[in-house]
Amino acid sequence: MSNPTAIESELRERCSDQCELCNSAVGDQVHHVEPIRDADPACSMWVCQKCVAHMAGGELNAQDWFCLQDSIWSEVPAIQVSTWRMLHRMGGESWAQDLIEQCYMEDDLLEWAKAGLLATSEEEPVDGVTKDSNGAELLEGDSVTLIKALDVKGAGFTAKRGTMVKGIRLTDNPEHVEGRVNGMMIVLKTCFLKKA
Ligand SMILES: [Zn+2]
Repeated sequence: MSNPTAIESELRERCSDQCELCNSAVGDQVHHVEPIRDADPACSMWVCQKCVAHMAGGELNAQDWFCLQDSIWSEVPAIQVSTWRMLHRMGGESWAQDLIEQCYMEDDLLEWAKAGLLATSEEEPVDGVTKDSNGAELLEGDSVTLIKALDVKGAGFTAKRGTMVKGIRLTDNPEHVEGRVNGMMIVLKTCFLKKA
């Protein structure tokens, strides 16, 4: 068993407890950047509640986010990827657009960053029908239960069989949906789910 606090301690040491996105507040939680890749600190960040809420969606007021001008240059992939996504959501802001053009990201990072944009975009068409383990169609916002205990990679916990996941999100892969388990958005394989 991995120690659930191992990543947390490493992240907190990396940033001296400050939120790794806005740098102005004391962070209070681990944010695993979606879609989750690894149990690696490079794929996670230590952030404050405000930043977590804003990363999840909603309107961004550009005046509040000049901090992204610093975080985009972070050497930590998770921070760079999250920043890139935030900048993208500010569409019309010229300074945000400039940063996107100036920052250099490796292809695989860019792919990761874009995957997050797709997963949260409602306009994105879904190829094929997303179905649960019984073949019932799953729709955006449905509730499902886990038919198997799932070891959540990187999070250091196991989601119990029978756990209810409310308000799932479809992804561009019909075999994957996203849902919040233990307060964390994770990717779930539809073959382990049953429509509630
Ligand atoms: Zn913050």
